[in-house]
Amino acid sequence: MLESLKSQFGFDSFLPLQEDIIANVLSSRDSLVLMPTGGGKSLCYQLPALSLSGITLVVSPLISLMKDQVDALRANGIASEYINSTLAQTEIARIESQAKRGQLKILYVAPERLASPRFGDFLAGLEISLIAVDEAHCISEWGHDFRPDYRNLKSLRHKFPDTPIIALTATATDRVREDIVAQLGIEDARQFVSSFNRPNLTYVVQRKRNSFDTILELIRRRENESAIIYCATRKATEELAERLSDNDVKALPYHAGLERVLRSETQEKFIRDEINVIAATIAFGMGIDKPNVRLVVHQDLPASLERYYQETGRAGRDGLASDCVLLYSYGDRALQEFLINRSEDEVERANALEKLDLMVEFCELRTCRRRYLLEYFGDDRWSGDCDACDVCMSTPEQFDATVIAQKVLSAVIRTEERFGIGHISGVLRGANTKRIRQLGHDELSVYGIVDDYSDEGVREVAELLIDKGLLAKRGAEYPTIAVTPEGRSFLKSRENLSLTRLSRMPEHDVQQHGSDLDYDPSLFEKLRSLRSRIALERDVPPYVIFSDAALGQMAHYYPQSRGNFARISGVGDVKLEQFGEAFLSVIVTHAQLHRLREGTVPAKASRGRRRSSRRKGPTHDFIRDLVRQGRSIGEIAEDRGLSQRTIIKHIEALVEEEEQLDIDYLMPEEDRITRVRDAFEQTGGHYLAPVRKLLGDDYSYEEINLVRIRMAQDR
Ligand code: ADP
Ligand code: ZN
Repeated sequence: MLESLKSQFGFDSFLPLQEDIIANVLSSRDSLVLMPTGGGKSLCYQLPALSLSGITLVVSPLISLMKDQVDALRANGIASEYINSTLAQTEIARIESQAKRGQLKILYVAPERLASPRFGDFLAGLEISLIAVDEAHCISEWGHDFRPDYRNLKSLRHKFPDTPIIALTATATDRVREDIVAQLGIEDARQFVSSFNRPNLTYVVQRKRNSFDTILELIRRRENESAIIYCATRKATEELAERLSDNDVKALPYHAGLERVLRSETQEKFIRDEINVIAATIAFGMGIDKPNVRLVVHQDLPASLERYYQETGRAGRDGLASDCVLLYSYGDRALQEFLINRSEDEVERANALEKLDLMVEFCELRTCRRRYLLEYFGDDRWSGDCDACDVCMSTPEQFDATVIAQKVLSAVIRTEERFGIGHISGVLRGANTKRIRQLGHDELSVYGIVDDYSDEGVREVAELLIDKGLLAKRGAEYPTIAVTPEGRSFLKSRENLSLTRLSRMPEHDVQQHGSDLDYDPSLFEKLRSLRSRIALERDVPPYVIFSDAALGQMAHYYPQSRGNFARISGVGDVKLEQFGEAFLSVIVTHAQLHRLREGTVPAKASRGRRRSSRRKGPTHDFIRDLVRQGRSIGEIAEDRGLSQRTIIKHIEALVEEEEQLDIDYLMPEEDRITRVRDAFEQTGGHYLAPVRKLLGDDYSYEEINLVRIRMAQDR
């Protein structure tokens, strides 16, 4: 099996459960497989299909996915076809006769076909060795995605009593699971349930502020990579896509209100890497299987954790590190609530509100988000370390909160405990608003007594005081803040108070790219364009040629012989034959130009599942040496064949790792440094984009980034 895994698919080892499932299938038993997206479900029927004598029939609900799957199989030289309503009659006839002659190993069909008696006759004339039912939850009315056509599958067991069935899905409650098994008549199926943890995804919840700048910055950090930005409304998707385009990001909107043709064109462009970003409503995602989405952002609060898990799940299917960032603001709950309250059905409304509350709770967590998510889904199979949510990645920081706490508590009391945090913060910070004037709160002694905290900062303190039990929130809809008896006694006692806040790790700890290898980005880019070119010629999506993981390995090990190249993950016999030469020639040329040595690809260069937060490697060492020699960024970039920006990111990482690195000679003039510093302070964060916006084109990203490094050194 391992031999066939490598020669046919180019992989060296199995992902969890794959081997057991395949063994079960090959022993002619039925199977039910529950695995998260990216778990590697397809291989569980595709690999057995190759060693079985007859044909494997795959039922799949999504027409667009069928084609991509078949393209991917064919690229590995596996004889496969699909039959659905998009094909002409003559084409179908051709495929049918191929199947009858035993020339196909895998045949994908849409479920509605199975209702046709003619198609039934055709199937009856074939030797069917295995039946795979993909997205099996579609068979259940209890599921979220019921498809009436899936009821046709009931007949399969009767028509093919001796053929093993494998049903696969990424989402199924116990009830749906029972339903699948009963409907398909596979009561004795062995059930394989894997953990729903997605170890390669990083979960980050960030307070929403300048959401456009944040999004732009997140995207810019992942040049040429794919991202999905989920928005709450159609209009928002269009506005966002337009603003991104204005900023030279290749982005398009996607929502249910757009023409069908336009929608599928957009989807296609995304899959083929012609655009990098989709700004979408929840309508986007079902029909897409793109493995290398590196970033999913929620610009607005999702309606439920189910949604959130599903939508973030579209990141990193290929197992490489990817990020999920949710931008959260206190006010977002109200919009969702408004949408929910439009429903007439009272029970439905109550349910939806309950789900929304849990979603909000998730956003406000001060404990591991991954754990919360998995516990919510009842996943008790995970018992790992997270290391990859914003809470786990942050470091607790104690600070003296005596004075600010006194001020916040006094303001709550002076305003008679009738207002929310936002208003309290406005009063304390001396906001000059109509509402504050109307209420006469600008006359209070607490008006404008805080100037050392931002709005965000005051809110954070208030949240911490709630956690401490000195303040309490009342009411769910528009919560007001009250002082508890403990709060009052704290005020009286005049004791000191220290609070602990979590401070986020610097942003570059969220990965720059998916691979866990420290690869050479300029070579990666060259390989990426070669991949696109070949994909275009063959009219298939680029990932069908090679995965990002494969390119990452090539750009790390610089394999320069066929033998070494063959060891790259995803390089099977057919791909070696068809693409080996083209890719090798790019690698060899690049290596000669930059005097790079070939590394030996380890026999088990498995896909880079886990993120490694602090990547170190040859590039790192190299850059450190060059900086110590006093070389300019431009020179280093040229020497190494990297962009200036990447060099600066490396330097930043070195400084963060507390390396003693003298970068004075790289710094701009003193007055420019001062301006950039001021801009960082004004924009209240460490993000580059807002600073750039404030300063204008006269200051480059590189320059701003260098000043940020200096600021980190000074801390
Ligand atoms: P799912 O259908 O469960 O979402 P896929 O079958 O699409 O998952 O597989 C996800 C990704 O993992 C694909 O890019 C696939 O090529 C890759 N993959 C599957 N099995 C292996 C393996 N044994 N080793 C390395 N990569 C694998
Ligand atoms: Zn965590």
